[in-house]
Amino acid sequence: MPPEPMPSGPPWSGHGQWPQANQALRTLARKPAAAPARELARRFAEARGFLAPFMERLCAATCPRCLDPCCVRARLWWGFADLAFLHLAELPLPLKQMTYAPGGACPHLGPHGCHLERPLRPWVCDWHLCPEQKARLGGWDQGERRELVQVLERARGLRKQMLEALVQGVG
Ligand code: SF4
Ligand code: SF4
Repeated sequence: MPPEPMPSGPPWSGHGQWPQANQALRTLARKPAAAPARELARRFAEARGFLAPFMERLCAATCPRCLDPCCVRARLWWGFADLAFLHLAELPLPLKQMTYAPGGACPHLGPHGCHLERPLRPWVCDWHLCPEQKARLGGWDQGERRELVQVLERARGLRKQMLEALVQGVG
């Protein structure tokens, strides 16, 4: 699940920008022309629900013993695609853009791991497998691995379609 560092600074982190961005996305997501994107967002959320047990199983086997947790090390922020998805799927929204104290962990990290439900996390936190998890996956039987890949590909495809539908519908 660990995210990679992003190349530039966080969007919508200036004074008043977070509510403005969310208001704009809310308006966009409610337009009649965004109906196909809303349906794809709903299906994407469903696919993420199917993915969750696989990723939880890998996390349970690796994260509690991890000496270099990705959620402490990585720097990521809410971007357009993740925020648009939350609006389209009518899911709870983050209260603010992520900010980091020097050397600090992700603000969503709690004492027992991420406190966001999986479909509410940035997408990269859902699909990324760290080296330890990839190694662990090697111990799964072929059918289980194939199922994980299929679920992941389905979710990726739906996310891409959702964004394309949003751009086509309201662009
Ligand atoms: S085991 Fe992997 S996914 Fe878990 S905290 Fe460590 S780096 Fe992150
Ligand atoms: S949102 Fe959750 S999973 Fe993603 S980096 Fe932050 S604590 Fe980790």
